[in-house]
Amino acid sequence: PLSDAQRRTIYALSTPPGKSGVAVIRVSGPETLGVWQRIVRTTRAARISQDKGKGKDVNRSVTKTPSILPQPWKMERCHIIDPHTSEILDDALAVFFRGPRSFTTEDVLELHVHGGRAVVGAVLTALARVPGCRPASPGEFTRRAYEGGRLDLTQVEGLRDLVDADTESQRRAALRVAGGEARSQFHALREDIIGCLALIEALIDFGEGEDIEEGVFDQARQQAQRLRDRIQSILSDNRRGEIMRTGIRLVIFGPPNVGKSSLLNFLAQREAAIVTHVPGTTRDILELSLDIGGLPILVADTAGLRESPDEVEQIGIERARKAVQAADASLLVLSLSDAVSATPSGPRLHIPAEIAPLVTPNTFILLNKMDLLPTSVLMPTLTALPQHGCWAVSLASQTGTGEFVAGLATELQDRYNLIQDAEGEDTNVPLITHARHRVHLESALEFLDAFLDTPAPEDIVLGAEELRYAAQAVGKISGLVDVEDVLDAIFNQFCIGK
Ligand code: GDP
Ligand code: ZN
Repeated sequence: PLSDAQRRTIYALSTPPGKSGVAVIRVSGPETLGVWQRIVRTTRAARISQDKGKGKDVNRSVTKTPSILPQPWKMERCHIIDPHTSEILDDALAVFFRGPRSFTTEDVLELHVHGGRAVVGAVLTALARVPGCRPASPGEFTRRAYEGGRLDLTQVEGLRDLVDADTESQRRAALRVAGGEARSQFHALREDIIGCLALIEALIDFGEGEDIEEGVFDQARQQAQRLRDRIQSILSDNRRGEIMRTGIRLVIFGPPNVGKSSLLNFLAQREAAIVTHVPGTTRDILELSLDIGGLPILVADTAGLRESPDEVEQIGIERARKAVQAADASLLVLSLSDAVSATPSGPRLHIPAEIAPLVTPNTFILLNKMDLLPTSVLMPTLTALPQHGCWAVSLASQTGTGEFVAGLATELQDRYNLIQDAEGEDTNVPLITHARHRVHLESALEFLDAFLDTPAPEDIVLGAEELRYAAQAVGKISGLVDVEDVLDAIFNQFCIGK
């Protein structure tokens, strides 16, 4: 029997398991054409053989028709047959992609079969019977695309993020990365570092003043300085790309009994709310994953904040403090009647002393229980509120809640979203979408600084080494050099069939 390594051709169901209208089964590897010949019988082939045998054997069955070569990149109607018994397993569609013009750069076959358990099971069993074939491991198709040089690591990550995208902003960002935008930018950066290194190497080989022009060392230094500034500016992105991908962490905090849980329940019931509810020990929801204006938001509730002699509650308060400090943004909920007090110069917003230290530039304020204030007091109060990042609502009667959600979406978009220009093009797009990129860029920055610190020109050989490391660090982002250790980690997060 063949070993797994010898069975180089892989197959897998690429659509989710279970019943569906259509299921797609993918095959990739050197034996793909063999798979086609053994299990695919096109109606085109049946027609040809029927024409040939006119009048003799009109009822010749499809399974008896010989296999004919596929027309690459063209979807063909076919029967899938069992390679041993020639039994027809399904009436299907098949596309053959001839390598290297395929996703994996190898020959690829896609079978679009009826999405029933028995159909899919029968076709997968048939594939298992073709010599040289084995089931694919998670992400193996994408891994072959990477190994074939069709995708770099940032594109691999982009593809996975695209599959995982829940919101519009995530979809747009992932599509750009999967399309190779980060790839080409990191590539250009690495090329420029290598260009700088080439100058230094020329100096080492020939020495200044002979075959090399004067001032080459200074020229290299200036280039390195520009490159380190460029990396520095890529790094100062407030982690926007990473935050957009994983979701903006928004923590709800405030004194007890102001409506924090009511707010979380309200947000959870909105139509745009997506997925996870993490239930707490009480009836409160603790964490929610939401789509607010196309932005992915992870909202968490905290215990009420107040000074308390009760030890258990103290722990809860401490935890709330930490949560607020660790979050990207926070929403302070207060009761409108408690928070606004009359002063001679009109109503004023008052934040309790124990809470005030937690307020940051990324803290928004929601004043709840608007319904408890008589209209005569309410009107001047509302006009006295801050213009931005502060809203008054009644969660009980759902007054002002629409404006609050829309306003919060705008505030968060200003901070985190890609900015679209008049043509609808995204500008100001953060290049870093994964922590991995940041780690390598930070080390590239350190090596460039080390180069700039080497005293000129006596330690030039050492300086060249620093530049080489800097180029290598950037190369790691794309997976051009020395990344065996991260490959498994990256591809294992894929599903089978991707
Ligand atoms: P939390 O302790 O901050 O989580 O507050 P809850 O959401 O548990 O609400 C505390 C109490 O305030 C509950 O009895 C709610 O029914 C009530 N409540 C919440 N929102 C409003 C509101 O807009 N108006 C009024 N009158 N009561 C509210
Ligand atoms: Zn609560």
